[in-house]
Amino acid sequence: MSKPDTPVTKTQATNFIRDIIRADVEAGKLAAEAVVTRFPPEPNGYLHIGHAKSICVNFGLAQQFGGQCNLRFDDTNPSKEEQEYVDAIMDDVRWLGFTWAGEVRYASDYFDQFYAWAQHLIREGRAYVCDLSAEQASEYRGWATSPGKPSPYRERSAEENLDLLERMKHGEFDEGAKVLRAKIDMASPNMNLRDPILYRIRKQSHHHTGDTWCIYPSYDFAHGQEDAIEGVTHSICTLEFADHRPLYDWFLEQLPVPSRPRQYEFGRLNLDYTVTSKRKLKRLVDEGHVDGWDDPRMPTIHGMRRRGFTARAIRNFCDALPVAKSDGVVSVAQFESAVRDDLDRHAPRGMAVLNPLKVIVENFSEDRVESLSAARHPKEDMGERILPFTRELYIDTADFTEDTTLSRKKFKRLVLGDYVRLRGAYVIKANRVEHDVNGSPAVLYAELVENTVGEDPPEGIKPRGVIHWVSATEGRQATIRVYERLFITASPDKGEGDLLDHINPESKRIITNAWIEPALAEANPESSFQFEREGYFVADRFDHCAESPVFNMTIGLRDTFSEKPGGQ
Ligand code: ATP
Ligand code: MG
Repeated sequence: MSKPDTPVTKTQATNFIRDIIRADVEAGKLAAEAVVTRFPPEPNGYLHIGHAKSICVNFGLAQQFGGQCNLRFDDTNPSKEEQEYVDAIMDDVRWLGFTWAGEVRYASDYFDQFYAWAQHLIREGRAYVCDLSAEQASEYRGWATSPGKPSPYRERSAEENLDLLERMKHGEFDEGAKVLRAKIDMASPNMNLRDPILYRIRKQSHHHTGDTWCIYPSYDFAHGQEDAIEGVTHSICTLEFADHRPLYDWFLEQLPVPSRPRQYEFGRLNLDYTVTSKRKLKRLVDEGHVDGWDDPRMPTIHGMRRRGFTARAIRNFCDALPVAKSDGVVSVAQFESAVRDDLDRHAPRGMAVLNPLKVIVENFSEDRVESLSAARHPKEDMGERILPFTRELYIDTADFTEDTTLSRKKFKRLVLGDYVRLRGAYVIKANRVEHDVNGSPAVLYAELVENTVGEDPPEGIKPRGVIHWVSATEGRQATIRVYERLFITASPDKGEGDLLDHINPESKRIITNAWIEPALAEANPESSFQFEREGYFVADRFDHCAESPVFNMTIGLRDTFSEKPGGQ
């Protein structure tokens, strides 16, 4: 299988499943290259950061041992699943840098086999068709603290059960009229063993099997057998399935399966300020609180990609977290810091002015364009870019003040009557300001100090600091979308009230009058940059083009969230 473009871990985080596999291999239970894992999403939504963790664990372990990892869609529920999700999930796994073994697999490809195994259980007296309504069945099931009681249909003969199942399959009964159940133990303290449902009638088309079936296996009946069919050796899932393991093992014992997978459960990845549930994310999309599954504010892999989080940063973050037997909440700041580390190293630099203030350099002639050049990256060898310098420039409104009382220490930018260095260019002095009707600075008249590109100014001239700029005549106007966290509370879906009560009303801001240096307009969609002094930005995957540049803010240079009201 192919490897991601860079090694995924620097220091290996603890991973108890890796230890188990290693022990299995060392004990001679299986050869390292015989290790088979799988990533088994249900195609009922887009994948999120939690799934990224699961992908890194499953594909990562297979890579480490030289085994294989399958991609299998657990598509047993036609009512919630769609081809759109199947396609998006495949896209996500590839984008994260992983390659699954062979073809994509579908649980629904095994429906004939599951049906034959259901018949097998009936013949062995281990399954029966039950006519109880859902309400009755739940009453018969009892409670965790009290045993259930047997269904009146529990003792049907094998012949009758086989016939009824066949007729369910042929669509003779209505949805909900009958189910097939395993005959296990109505008094078991584990509710999953109280005659769980194996098949339901659902007269619905399936995205993969069309109208072939009108009965569908339950997730529980399908899951372990799917692994067995594929020869999965280490079946890795999250903790909520630990209670289902006895049931999965029961099926594997009763059925003539071709292999015996073993299930291991690890703790889900949860992030503060973040919702990781496909159902809740779907609600945000369906109700229009975000602009689709790939909205850059979404913790979906599609959203993070559009935001400019790199696959490498996501892998590094996931791989640095331990794989443990308990759930935990990881700080989203830790994730953001992994993104910053990655972009700091890999993103070329550029200049963009988000709130432009026009500067006219009066001692630079109108028709002249001076091509300055600047390194694309301060440390990595990425070559140079051309920075055109002209008489008319833009600087950021926030980088200028008329308040001459501000100390040099307090305001290291441009003050009326004082000097500042333009990054990669000249030292300039602000001479006078023209105001707009509101009294805000509209145009700033300045002069440059000759021979100061890459050189110190003459004695007596001390620039207050260095600010960024863009040529007003050679630069390009751009749209920049600035994003903040989607939720303002650390546990938006656990605390009081509705999820929507915790939405940040200012999570998206669109700047249409930003100015960028010309080289940035030519960027390919999805390329990331550090806009100096502003943060990391990515050329939008879909909307960016040279004629009409669109950048999304990925993340600021520092964690400023915690400094704002509402932040912690
Ligand atoms: P959700 O609750 O978001 O719908 P899910 O568990 O129902 O998630 P699946 O499509 O069934 O979604 O998940 C595919 C795989 O990803 C499963 O093995 C599941 O255990 C794993 N997974 C899902 N969420 C997380 C998470 N937050 N952390 C780690 N693994 C996860
Ligand atoms: Mg699930």
